[in-house]
Formats: sequence, C-alpha cells, structure tokens
Amino acid sequence: MKYALVTGGSRGIGRAICLKLAAMGHPVIINYQSNQEAAEETKQAVEAAGGQAELLPFNVSDSEAVDTAIENWQNAHPEDYIGILVNNAGIRKDTLMIFMQNNDWQNVINTTLNGFFYITRRVIKGMLSKRDGRIINMASLSGIKGQAGQSNYSAAKAALIGATKALAQEIGSRKITVNAVAPGFIATDMTKDFNEADFKKMIPAGRFGKPEEVAALVGFLASDDAAYINGEVISINGGLYT
Ligand code: NAP
Repeated sequence: MKYALVTGGSRGIGRAICLKLAAMGHPVIINYQSNQEAAEETKQAVEAAGGQAELLPFNVSDSEAVDTAIENWQNAHPEDYIGILVNNAGIRKDTLMIFMQNNDWQNVINTTLNGFFYITRRVIKGMLSKRDGRIINMASLSGIKGQAGQSNYSAAKAALIGATKALAQEIGSRKITVNAVAPGFIATDMTKDFNEADFKKMIPAGRFGKPEEVAALVGFLASDDAAYINGEVISINGGLYT
C-alpha cells in the first residue's frame, strides 16, 4: 500500500493535512515530537472519518532518530511504501537578529531545513524504486519576502524552497514531484499569540486562513491531477503578497 507521512501531523496544519489525505484514501503516518495527546486525537479523528492512521513519533531534527523510525516502519511494512511525504513540522523562535541567540537560530534551521533533509533522503529511496511519489514541503510567505523578527525562520523557509527546486530537478524523471506550499497567516497554535484583529487589516481576504484551506492545496498537489506541477512554490495567503 501507498502511505502518506506527514511530519508535525498531530496539530494545526499537519492535522488538517492528515485528515485530507486520509479522506483521499491514503493511510496516513502521523509524525509528532512530544504532544502524544494531540497525536492520538488526530488519529481518532482520521479513524472516525473512516480513514486509516498510525503514529510515528520522532524528532525530525535528529538524524539518527529519523533513520531508526523510517527503518522500523519499513521493517514493519515490508510490502508498503511511503508515496506521499509532507514535510510540515516547523517551529518559530521570533526575535530581532540583534537579540537572537545561537539556539534560536539553530533550532529553527534544524527543524525546518535539516528535518526536511534527514527524512526526505530516506523516503525517496522507496519512491525512486516505485517510480512514484509526491513530496510537499511546508514553506512560508516569510521564506519568499522575508519577515522582520524572523531572520532564522525566513532563512530556513527560503532554503527549503531552494532545496525543493533542486530536488525536483534531480528526481522529476522518476515521476516524483517536489513542491512547496507557502502559507501566510493560518489560524493554529503557531499564530495564537498574534492579534488577528491587527494583522487582518493587511490581508485582502480580511482574515487568517484555515488549516483546512492549506490541506486542500496539499491534497491537490498529492493527487494524480498534479503530476505536471513540479519544483513550484504555491502561495496561499489571502492575497497578502503576490
Ligand atoms: P503548530 O500548530 O505549532 O504545529 C506544529 C507541529 O509540528 C506539531 O505537530 C508539532 O508536534 C510538530 N513538530 C514541531 N517540532 C517538531 C520536531 N522537531 N519533530 C517532529 N515534529 C515536530 O504549527 P502549524 O501552524 O500547524 O505549522 C505547520 C507548518 O506550517 C510549519 O512548518 C510552519 O512553519 C508552517 N507555516 C505555518 C503558518 C501559520 O500561520 N500557522 C504560516 C506559514 C507556514 P508536537 O506537538 O509533538 O511538538
């Protein structure tokens, strides 16, 4: 069977993506780091909607933990492969660069960029042998335009976009597509400390986006209909920036 692995699939945008991909008929592997309760809730929501899900906790920024988790999963699923990979796990540690500590910089880069690398290089082996795959990387508007107070996050997301374009050219001939999605403000735990009333004045749509709206785009990119879209960055931001 063809599985979908969603990193950071337990909450927010990742949870909505798990629900969407499961509704499209894919068994989903829900990755998370520490919040098991949220992951269990997501698994139950997928199952309640008639889908299939399993949990696979690991820290995406720990290369050994990634290798072990993927190897264990493959050993437990000798007939199956991960045909859809959504690199969604991400964190932010916002502060002006003049105040930024090494950890603020490194943790954000490690999660978004190194996490993408550690997982993707393992998962593409199965995709290459099956000559089938969809990789969708969760970038951000910050990775396109840059955002004050987010030099770490903007750098990580911009680098992820560069890696998306490079990898798309490496493996596109094997019927594997690699694309990035760049959301603006989406209502999740990550943005709960932002005052929507202040920010929405800048957004032509007049509101934050919903995780389900991002999940709909990811679902399309994961579908057969998107086979000819490769190496692209697709914005979803209510018109905030074009
Ligand atoms: P969120 O609600 O904070 O959820 C983050 C998810 O990532 C959780 O499932 C969390 O698991 C997981 N995670 C964090 N660090 C991890 C690690 N080292 N290893 C494994 N899992 C890890 O975030 P979100 O708003 O849904 O954001 C999802 C993605 O969209 C991120 O890449 C973010 O940068 C991007 N994005 C978000 C927005 C927005 O406005 N929300 C805008 C643009 C881009 P635990 O709960 O176990 O920690």
